[in-house]
Amino acid sequence: MIVIFPYAIALYMFESYIGVVALLLLGIPFFTMTVVMKMYNNSEQINMDLKKAGVIGHQLADRLETNEVFDLFIVEVAKLFKVEYAYVIDYRDGLQQFMRIYENGQLEPRDIASISYEKGTAGRVILTGESFIYNEKSDWENLSTGNLPADTQSIMATPIARNNKTEGVLVLASKKKYAFAKHQLKILDILSTYFAVSLEKAGYMQRVIAKSERCGLTRLYNYRYLDESLEKHIQEMKDGKLEQLSLIMMDIDHFKSINDRYGHQSGNDILVQLADILREEIAGEGMVARYGGEEFVVLLRNYSKELAMLLAEKLRKRIENHEFLIETDLANERQQQIIHITMSIGVSSAPEDSDEGMSLIRNADRALYIGAKQAGRNKVAAYSK
Ligand code: GH3
Ligand code: MG
Ligand code: MG
Repeated sequence: MIVIFPYAIALYMFESYIGVVALLLLGIPFFTMTVVMKMYNNSEQINMDLKKAGVIGHQLADRLETNEVFDLFIVEVAKLFKVEYAYVIDYRDGLQQFMRIYENGQLEPRDIASISYEKGTAGRVILTGESFIYNEKSDWENLSTGNLPADTQSIMATPIARNNKTEGVLVLASKKKYAFAKHQLKILDILSTYFAVSLEKAGYMQRVIAKSERCGLTRLYNYRYLDESLEKHIQEMKDGKLEQLSLIMMDIDHFKSINDRYGHQSGNDILVQLADILREEIAGEGMVARYGGEEFVVLLRNYSKELAMLLAEKLRKRIENHEFLIETDLANERQQQIIHITMSIGVSSAPEDSDEGMSLIRNADRALYIGAKQAGRNKVAAYSK
């Protein structure tokens, strides 16, 4: 309004004084300005989209499971391009298989039957190995397989390629006509590459982790190793080679809210630092394992319950006072920040409380929840029958 209104008045007055030439005199600078502003606007948009794509790329690379990579990719890409519909299609054995369906703001658990590889807009991508933008329904209707919602107008489809071979297709669809710009196709290309690489990495990690005895994130022993080790210790006790065994189970307090506030990556950073502390504190005294998400177990040979309680209390205090350093990734820029956490701890011992491995764990867990969590958290509690 600020620009156009004075322009219109000036044009009206000029035109009545000097005639049609006024159109040129005012029109040329006006259109030049419009073009420059549009270009400026576009490059701003490209910069912003590129920045967001970079963030998504980092998040993808951090995921250790293929399912997480799929979910994160489709949800974030749909949000970035503000589309109502998104589909990740796998191309294998001459078929298109719908791996993820995202419609109206959420992942849809429903299945779409596989279709032959050359069908539909995705089929065109598979056949040519190229990306496409369709601006309105009439552009793609003749290709339709009926799988897209009826109110779809614009479509952007791009190959997901690895080693120059199309392994799948990403289809983004919008209810709006002309919803996509050319520069978005390039960004989508970059994101698809991030996706393919992250997927491959996650698949590899999953195979390695399945074979390993360590947790991939913290390098502590994992649940499987703990389970085996516990059984061995119990056997030793039964054979009379080991007199006492204590188990400490720990759970971070309100960890979910830390993830919510600072991001999943920061949560992971804390888990890694916590693992370092546990390793250092326990050293030769016993074995530390990551039991689950934010739960850890320490197994202590020849430790009475009283001794184990003392050690647990020492751990609790050290963690309470420790400054955990995180890089928040929720804001636009990464920032370093110090935060504090607390843990709730449960202790149980054999043969005092039980002489079975699994019930030793269950007892420590019960002490943790009843004696520590329910009693206000940041506490150590011993199991009592
Ligand atoms: P409290 O134990 O005090 O009752 O609260 P909490 O929020 O810690 O408990 P809850 O069991 O509800 O949530 C545990 C959360 O831990 C859920 C999940 O977000 C987070 N979590 C589990 N594993 C991981 C992980 O590997 N990385 C990150 N960043 N977060 C994890
Ligand atoms: Mg927990
Ligand atoms: Mg917890």
